[in-house]
Amino acid sequence: MIPLPFAKGQRYAVLGLARSGLTAAQALAASGAEVLAWDDSEAARQRAEAAGIALVPLDGLAWEGIEGLVLSPGIPHNFPKPHPVTHAAKQAKVQLIGDVELLALACSKARYLGITGTNGKSTTTALAGHLLQYTGLTTAVGGNLGKPVLSLPALNERGVYVLELSSYQLELLHSLTCDAAVLLNITPDHLDRHGGFEGYLAAKARIFRGQKTPQTAIVGVDQEAGQRLADLLEQEGQVRPIRISLEGAVTGGLFYRDGWLYDDSEGPAERLVALDTYPHLPGKHNLQNIAAAYAACRTLGLPRATLLEGLASFPGLAHRLELVAERNGVRFVNDSKATNAEAAATALSSYDGIYWIAGGIPKDGGLAGLEPLFSRIRRAFLIGEAQDAFAAELAGKVTAQCCGTLETAVRAAAKLAIRESGGKAVVLLSPACASLDQFPDFEARGETFRAVVAALEEEVEL
Ligand code: ADP
Repeated sequence: MIPLPFAKGQRYAVLGLARSGLTAAQALAASGAEVLAWDDSEAARQRAEAAGIALVPLDGLAWEGIEGLVLSPGIPHNFPKPHPVTHAAKQAKVQLIGDVELLALACSKARYLGITGTNGKSTTTALAGHLLQYTGLTTAVGGNLGKPVLSLPALNERGVYVLELSSYQLELLHSLTCDAAVLLNITPDHLDRHGGFEGYLAAKARIFRGQKTPQTAIVGVDQEAGQRLADLLEQEGQVRPIRISLEGAVTGGLFYRDGWLYDDSEGPAERLVALDTYPHLPGKHNLQNIAAAYAACRTLGLPRATLLEGLASFPGLAHRLELVAERNGVRFVNDSKATNAEAAATALSSYDGIYWIAGGIPKDGGLAGLEPLFSRIRRAFLIGEAQDAFAAELAGKVTAQCCGTLETAVRAAAKLAIRESGGKAVVLLSPACASLDQFPDFEARGETFRAVVAALEEEVEL
């Protein structure tokens, strides 16, 4: 737990007592602050009480003398409608902060690598953390991915925090200046919470706050918004943006061309990594993640050769194009995190000869946008609530069968893939759906996939 010496003797309100809020309340209390904590959910309040946190309803609170309102990132404070407690705090000019703000204040000497974007945040964060650890630097990884930041170890100037930062977290962050800040990509998401696309972009752009050369701003420029941001940073002249593109060459940045990731950020452009070199980082989108993590680590002065070596031992992240087994040349890939069609598109474009398992609770738009990738699919195995609707969408385009459950789908897909593929195929769970009709969460769905595949490996005959 990170000590927060500045909080001693101060009063803080904490709203939202899930993992990060509860840890914040505990860290503040342990540092000698008076904590007024609340959560609208009875279950969360009970857990907090059991953890020794005193509860105080925050409605109607007298806000004078309160140093800050520590807010969980999931609670709206602007759009679509501010939570009444945040409204009252703002009226009283009490600052809204997140747990990352407390970390930044407490460990101001450490170096920070911040990562945001619409897709690929967790992978890039884990990869950058892995590379730093590989080079022997003291590193702590957390934020939106993994552990609440205040439960990480306290680091001094020799340590580096690698933080995945969502747009919600960035809105509650005021004092952090990142040594390397990454915006991977930006497509419309969570717009209701940000009052539209410009609000979402403004929240993401906060990751570059206060940066000055030699700190670096690493910006994916394949969307117009990213281009705009990089141009703006360049005009302002405080920090040199390093542009990343999968679409074509970018001067002074990293880009994809003809099967290779090129680095033009340090002297003449040279080839860095070939597409699909690492089995745990397949697909073009992962070259974007590699480019960002690599460029961020270079900012910290780490040697190129060691970083390239470190990429080879990255174990990948569970449930994101996770290679769980290979049998008779057939790869079994768990991409349970793909809860919408956009994420499934990334997966489908990363392989050929796909035996595709999809379904669950469908999102608006169903399988829209996936049609150009249908030629990569040998057969679809459909599950859950979406199965009939997906079968109708695929009719005449992809051979599909309704399997009901994930176990039936994995068995059917494995059998066919091994029989008919001659050893070059992928059984891919990339559901394009939420999991909640059949599983508690996407992790449980991925675990089930892994367990069924493991059971198949035990069976001699399929
Ligand atoms: P996030 O943390 O932003 O949700 P993840 O790293 O967890 O991102 O990846 C989620 C899904 O998004 C993965 O299953 C993968 O298919 C896809 N993905 C990963 N990296 C990228 C990227 N750079 N661009 C587009 N899609 C990506």
